[in-house]
Amino acid sequence: MSVTVPISPAKITTTKPLLITQFPANPKPLILEKCKTVKDLNQIHAHLIKTRLINEPLVAENFLESAAIILRHQPIDHALSVFNQLHDPNASAYNVIIRGLTLKHLPNDAIFMFKKMKENDVQCNEFTFPCVLKACSKLRALEEGKQIHGQIMKLGFVNCGFVENSLVNVYANCGQVGVARKVFDGMSERDVYSWNALFSGYTKSGCWKEAVALFRCMLEMNEKFDEVTLVSVLTACGRVGDLDLGEWIKEYVDINGLKKNLTLVTALVDMYAKCGCVDKARSLFDEMIRKDVVVWSAMISGYNQANRCKEALSLFHDMQKTNMEPNEVTMVSVLSSCAQLGALATGKWVHFYIKKKKLPLTVTLGTALLVFYAKCGSIENLIEVFETMPSKNVLSWTVLIQGLASNGQGKMALEYFDTMREKNLKPNDVTLIGVLCACSHAGFVDTGRDLFVSMSRDFDIQPRIEHYGCMVDILGRAGLLDEAYQFIQNMTMKPNAVIWRTLLASCKVHKDVTIGEQCLNRITKLEPAHSGDYLLLSSLYASVGRLEDAIRVRNEMKVNGIKKTPGCSSIELNGVIHEFFSEDNAHPESNIIYNATETMINEIKLAGYVPNISDARLEAEDYDKETSVFHHSEKLAIAFGLIKTSFGTPIRISKNLRVCTDCHDATKVISKVYNREIIVRDRTRFHHFKDGLCSCNDYW
Ligand code: ZN
Ligand code: ZN
Repeated sequence: MSVTVPISPAKITTTKPLLITQFPANPKPLILEKCKTVKDLNQIHAHLIKTRLINEPLVAENFLESAAIILRHQPIDHALSVFNQLHDPNASAYNVIIRGLTLKHLPNDAIFMFKKMKENDVQCNEFTFPCVLKACSKLRALEEGKQIHGQIMKLGFVNCGFVENSLVNVYANCGQVGVARKVFDGMSERDVYSWNALFSGYTKSGCWKEAVALFRCMLEMNEKFDEVTLVSVLTACGRVGDLDLGEWIKEYVDINGLKKNLTLVTALVDMYAKCGCVDKARSLFDEMIRKDVVVWSAMISGYNQANRCKEALSLFHDMQKTNMEPNEVTMVSVLSSCAQLGALATGKWVHFYIKKKKLPLTVTLGTALLVFYAKCGSIENLIEVFETMPSKNVLSWTVLIQGLASNGQGKMALEYFDTMREKNLKPNDVTLIGVLCACSHAGFVDTGRDLFVSMSRDFDIQPRIEHYGCMVDILGRAGLLDEAYQFIQNMTMKPNAVIWRTLLASCKVHKDVTIGEQCLNRITKLEPAHSGDYLLLSSLYASVGRLEDAIRVRNEMKVNGIKKTPGCSSIELNGVIHEFFSEDNAHPESNIIYNATETMINEIKLAGYVPNISDARLEAEDYDKETSVFHHSEKLAIAFGLIKTSFGTPIRISKNLRVCTDCHDATKVISKVYNREIIVRDRTRFHHFKDGLCSCNDYW
């Protein structure tokens, strides 16, 4: 079924055709008020020609106004032909046609007409300038605007309020907000339009602080403002986080019953969302009867920025149900939320949508896609998007390099870094973190050392604590624990807990108890240690057979009141995120999942999996140790993935903590037995399990 949507109001008002039996002596009201359609216009035009009334300048001008301005949704052709037939068009006729051309989105033609007016020596009047300046403003034609400003000064129209307003407007729109402010300050009288023109300039140039200050000044001066002003100021409040002023405006809107203005309410939603008051934004949002894409985007982006990604996506699904088409802001926020949650299906839908609608892949949108694919561990898509992006900036390159590095593709990351250098693109400090990460994942110790030195020498980037951290990781990973320890001692800045934690993780892998003990010691001196730190040292003891020490560290942790962060793994199925905790019964299909887990464990045991219960031995007090290992959150999530997805599709899991040794061993075997690619994103990196191996080479 197809529904015909009326395009313009002119089409639904089926006014009866004008029946002109007798043409009035003064045709002005007829021309200006009765002319509703092109048909009417043609009829009147014919009459005016027949009666030769068209030769009277005033009548001709009225008719022109009707054709050029009043019939808003008709093309300008009719008006132009009338204008061209005028013998000697005067200033008023020019003004009308210039205004008409601007109104009908032909600002170039409007400026051209203004030039023609000057060539024909027709004297401008004060009404000419606002029309042509508006055209300049639309085109951001600063040079023309300046020339016209000069003419205005010469002709002495400077003190004419609406001419000055147009000047403020043109400078504000052309990014010359300082000049706009000067004109504004020099005005003898200002009305709300003058203020709004300046506010709009501040908003367009991103001068948020100035806009807020201007409004406060406006309030002090008791100047009149309107709803347009409030929209600008609210945008600024959101950007600078001025919740006080935002709340003041909210109250003003309530008291004055302005909630019918959807643009204003949208600005309020946006302000609350940007100031982090997402729930206040949501309740306003829910009250709105009509919602456009701008307000949906503001709300989704608010959730995303507040790190409430599940709500962002659920709202996006609501938006899809209303058939509202997303815009770039929506898509960037959705992709960012998908990246956080590892929600591959929803993010892929956005990518597909961009392709289907042939939307331009801007740097912002393209980079958001890169972040998303990098965070979801989808390397092929990551490279595909990067290669199809028409333009890229340093951030795009950085995201690609980091994404490849964290997904175990260190070598490829370094190759892209070389390409970047060949293209003479200067990396920034974040790019170098990515590159050093790549060296660490690929085990390129020498390259890492070289790059670390070349940072300040060749790229003029002073190493930050993060770069030192990468270096410690590179050395630690390679088993050069003493060198790493020395490296930390020689740092030009004080090492933080993260640095020591990095070394502690290396000690666990290389089973170095002495340095490991020192690491935990340093960490506890710097900040209250995380449960993860104690658990690392404890399992380090356990791995070298020092069970008593392992238990002692665990007890210390308990005595110090440090709680274990519960492990949580999530998997996305048809756009819904399913979360699992260890020994979790909260899922509605809990029974099925536990049965599937048991089957899975039995299958992999047959294939040679031996449960590693060294950690669990320390933990379990009231339940069977082996079973507790089998019920780790990622195993439940993988089992769920195996029964819910079709054969051959990769299974993607996100985990909030490090993967434990046993889950890592088990997942390797699962990938082989079930012939499935399993991608696990843990707190710091990706594990791509395939054919019984993991991309991290068992180092994490
Ligand atoms: Zn585990
Ligand atoms: Zn791994």
